[in-house]
Amino acid sequence: MQTAILEYEKQSMPRSQRQVTYFCRLCREYGIKTRKAHLQNFHNASRDTITKRSNNDLVDVVFIESR
Ligand SMILES: [Zn+2]
Repeated sequence: MQTAILEYEKQSMPRSQRQVTYFCRLCREYGIKTRKAHLQNFHNASRDTITKRSNNDLVDVVFIESR
């Protein structure tokens, strides 16, 4: 899994690009910059769900950091 992500980055990301992006386990999409916005827009998460502090764990589980 981890290897696949690294391979993908080698092909698609310029070396100079240093901004952290995320991989979403739910829709298997790469290059996500705003995790909570992504949950709202693509997975119908409500604003309340996202702003609850306890759900930061959920965000961490769903998204894998990749740089
Ligand atoms: Zn997603």
